[in-house]
Amino acid sequence: MQENKPFEPSYFEPQRLTFSTEEARHDWLPMLLDIYFITDRGVREGVRREENKGRSLACYKGCSACCRSHTTIPIYPIEITGLYWYIIEKSTGETREKLRWQCSEHKQREPCPLLIDGACGVHPMRPQACRHFNVFGKPCAEGEDAFYTRRKDVLTPIKKYKDEALSKMLPFHKITGRSQRRDAIKQGLLNTYVKVLQEIDWSKLAKRMP
Ligand code: SF4
Ligand code: SF4
Repeated sequence: MQENKPFEPSYFEPQRLTFSTEEARHDWLPMLLDIYFITDRGVREGVRREENKGRSLACYKGCSACCRSHTTIPIYPIEITGLYWYIIEKSTGETREKLRWQCSEHKQREPCPLLIDGACGVHPMRPQACRHFNVFGKPCAEGEDAFYTRRKDVLTPIKKYKDEALSKMLPFHKITGRSQRRDAIKQGLLNTYVKVLQEIDWSKLAKRMP
């Protein structure tokens, strides 16, 4: 049986990732890194609140049943852009080769192709939905989607952080005016842009990897 290892301290003290050179080159990148930083802070706060109620986080490093069992992970266009960039420009060595192979072989609706040897191959740039998905009590069984089997054990993202992260995403869709932004969040406009990670044609990404 695999030994449960706690998450690294950085999980509990989120840091904003920085890629100075690339952030100067791609205007969407600082936006996305801010979004992930806000999301991680929201998750940390959510976990802290649950722990104060006596609940324990079941997720641990090396646990990845969720990546294999989930079939409808929502992902925003800016996150797809981020994954393309990260995989093409930043992945290296064996992980890169495995990412390329798995993306080229991936068929629509199959599990996420970015899981490499039981760990997320794009961890720093994993989508918000993956960052949000945390389970309390006991780890998910293989094939279990705790969102459906025991919703009460799944962390509910804190609205304040979720809205703040989404608000940062609006300029990517050319929504910049103050009232436009407010209305967009209120009306859930960004939901219309959401795609499903497992339904993306990842072979296109594999073809762009030299
Ligand atoms: S969500 Fe479930 S499967 Fe995924 S890391 Fe947490 S306990 Fe493990
Ligand atoms: S992106 Fe990473 S964390 Fe999300 S499902 Fe794929 S392997 Fe798992």
